[in-house]
Amino acid sequence: MSLVDQMDTVTDASAGTVDRHATTDTFASTNPASGAVVGVFPLHDAEAVRQTVERARGASERWAALGFDGRAKRLAAYRGYLARRLNELADLVHRENGKPHADAILEISLAIDHVAWAGGHARKTLGPRKVHAGMLAANHAAYLEYQPLGVVGVIGPWNYPVFTPMGSLAYALAAGNAVVFKPSEHTAAVGAWLAAAWRAAVPDAADAFQVVTGYGETGAALCRAGVGKLAFTGSAATGKKVMATCAENLTPVLLELGGKDAMIVDDDADVAAAADAAVWGAMSNGGQTCIGIERVYATSAVYDQFVAEVTEQVRTLRPGSDGEASYGPMTMASQVDVVQRHLEDAAGSGARLVHGDADPGLFRNQNYLVPTVVLDAPETSAAVREETFGPTLTITKVRDAEEALEKANASAYGLGGAVFSRSKARGMDLARRMRSGMTSVNSVLTFASVPALPFGGVGDSGFGRIHGEDGLKEFTRAKAITRQRVALPVNLMSFGRPPSAADALARVMGMVHGRHR
Ligand code: NAD
Repeated sequence: MSLVDQMDTVTDASAGTVDRHATTDTFASTNPASGAVVGVFPLHDAEAVRQTVERARGASERWAALGFDGRAKRLAAYRGYLARRLNELADLVHRENGKPHADAILEISLAIDHVAWAGGHARKTLGPRKVHAGMLAANHAAYLEYQPLGVVGVIGPWNYPVFTPMGSLAYALAAGNAVVFKPSEHTAAVGAWLAAAWRAAVPDAADAFQVVTGYGETGAALCRAGVGKLAFTGSAATGKKVMATCAENLTPVLLELGGKDAMIVDDDADVAAAADAAVWGAMSNGGQTCIGIERVYATSAVYDQFVAEVTEQVRTLRPGSDGEASYGPMTMASQVDVVQRHLEDAAGSGARLVHGDADPGLFRNQNYLVPTVVLDAPETSAAVREETFGPTLTITKVRDAEEALEKANASAYGLGGAVFSRSKARGMDLARRMRSGMTSVNSVLTFASVPALPFGGVGDSGFGRIHGEDGLKEFTRAKAITRQRVALPVNLMSFGRPPSAADALARVMGMVHGRHR
């Protein structure tokens, strides 16, 4: 089948959401395990992106006019559609991203739960409410509501091609915005599928969810296309470019960037549980998880046992593309070099590497990486400082949890993290003091599966929040309204006020506030 024929297949499936006539150039996304073409997509240029945003703008007013209940009903139809076709979408994620089918099901399930939460909580979080007008405006009623921004641009990564963008898409839609989604060029078929699913499930508001495809230039064009906000998820380096491009038109940005998440294992931890969680947090999805555990700081009391448990578990992991594989190939071939560089740098600076038993020579496709534990790498090494994004884990011995916290926090990143301690007070205290947007105590990654909790980072991990009430508000502007209920005999904000009015006000302020010291 020719590239254009395949593109027709893809565009048919997406029912017009990817307009192949907008541009003649195309690109292909491939299966990282086999190299087979998964789909061929238009390379949307600036004009095509602009037209798509205008189409979404037309739809945004009708979508907003549906109100919270009308939108909730349609978001429910969308989640029903996704749930009924979970296996079909999981198969596509498996083929295009490379992760095991079971992991794709988990990812999509989390995304569906977020669609449900966003649709179900938008009215309560964003709807009009009366607020107390306060002493100085007691004769007024005061109202607060959160209004949509119009069109929200969403640029996504490839590592969680459903869950990650859905944290912006579902919440922006629930808040009353239309969305234009630019999926990663590595997972364009999943992006087109999500948009096609919307058109099928919500035919009367089909244009509220558009997709454009292409490389970074297409993303930059979306930044310049006059969207009300740009929600970006990807690397810190690209995030800086996105922010600079958006600054040209003062387009606000939400930046969900990379991480170097740490786990602290305290003296009183359940060491077996901590090891199990660390291995999953570090190695699942081949370590290509923004909130993956990349560093562990274990106290000297538990270090030996922890290392023994982790290395034993890691030995049994096997990358592959079959149903039994622990994780898949690296989605981006270029990431293999980054991981190798970090491991070589760590080994060269005195760290001890413990590899899994899986033999890389067995694999024809060298995009499979053997899991590797890095023991006591210097804090200055790339494996500790930079995002590795591979099936690796550094474990470092520390005196106590305070030293662990100090080292965990000495990172430019600050996305998620984990603490293992049997003491509730100790665990919560360490979690609070961890410099990150999210921390799980006695588990890993759990915060991502709680729709009511905001998701986002600090420092080089970005700013702004998806998920939860904060995630809904992120895609709105707060609107304040006052309505005078009754006119007072003396109006302080009028040139007609009597000269004595200011003195009277000063006396009242003295009585109400002056007693506080
Ligand atoms: P990336 O930064 O290379 O690309 C992300 C997206 O940006 C892609 O769609 C790409 O086409 C687009 N893009 C590239 N250049 C652009 C430009 N100049 N202007 C506009 N758009 C542009 O990231 P990636 O490799 O796809 O994803 C991996 C990164 O994403 C990791 O750092 C990971 O930690 C991070 N990530 C973060 C989160 C989070 O929620 N914080 C979630 C998933 C992934």
